[in-house]
Amino acid sequence: MFNAELIERAARFRGVDEDPTRNLSACPALVLNADYTPLSYYPLSLWPWQTAIKAVFLDRVDIVASYDREVHSPSFDMKIPSVIALRQYVKQSEFPAFTRFNVFLRDRFQCQYCGSHEHLTFDHVTPRRLGGRTTWENIITACAPCNMKKGGRTPKQAGMALHRTPIRPTSWQLQQHGKAFPPGYLHETWRDWLYWDVELEA
Ligand SMILES: [Zn+2]
Repeated sequence: MFNAELIERAARFRGVDEDPTRNLSACPALVLNADYTPLSYYPLSLWPWQTAIKAVFLDRVDIVASYDREVHSPSFDMKIPSVIALRQYVKQSEFPAFTRFNVFLRDRFQCQYCGSHEHLTFDHVTPRRLGGRTTWENIITACAPCNMKKGGRTPKQAGMALHRTPIRPTSWQLQQHGKAFPPGYLHETWRDWLYWDVELEA
């Protein structure tokens, strides 16, 4: 019988000499939907190796690629999955949640006035005191200096042009933006499923 905790306790690496500084927790699995597209690009959909192996034993995922490293238990040896695909398709909601992170992602982590990537905050395009609401259509990413400069004015009053008119993005649009942010760590078996190179040329 499968027991995740037992596996965890039994887990140990064979080739510790390969790289002794890396431990099991450094072997996350890239999670693909049943159509083999990543569940999410940014943040990248990753599961800890324990969760991935549990899902394999519960028949919820197929192993697409593996690390060279293995886990061992009295009853089995297994390579740690590096890419897994869900057997059942997870339908993504059409529109993403209105969160700070998603506003930044829609605006590609860029001040919508000057293009800066630093000291990012949020700005009400139409200020609250003029009836501006906290919605996708009225909240944009702005750097602190631009935010200060604009103050409680509209872009027109402040003479500051917006790069783009803010819209409520679809989940698909956010996914596209997320592709532009490759993770700091990218295992070789993930590349085929992420298409970073294609996106970075754009
Ligand atoms: Zn700015």
